[in-house]
Amino acid sequence: MENFRFGSKNGCNPASVQRICRPNQINMADAANKYSDNVEGKFFVDDQCIDCDLCRETAPANFKRNDDGGHSYLYKQPESPEEEALCQEAMDGCPVEAIGNDG
Ligand code: SF4
Repeated sequence: MENFRFGSKNGCNPASVQRICRPNQINMADAANKYSDNVEGKFFVDDQCIDCDLCRETAPANFKRNDDGGHSYLYKQPESPEEEALCQEAMDGCPVEAIGNDG
């Protein structure tokens, strides 16, 4: 049996493996997978949401729960600097990076 070794020959090395496996890159919100109940605009929730409630607690004026689907969505885009900051805080705090900002 051949020993597998990391090497630059095949482009596989510890640094590239670490980059591929970093959870925050795997789970980065993707606009292609956003829920259809998100209101139009730059912030959105995608299908990685685990319904932890953090965004709804952080920015209740903007995030709501879809009770049937068991996930959050943007029901109102931020309309003030305060709401913008809270949406950004929710995005930064989301444990699975299900909130995106494509603005
Ligand atoms: S913080 Fe993230 S995982 Fe938690 S409910 Fe909101 S979108 Fe879903």
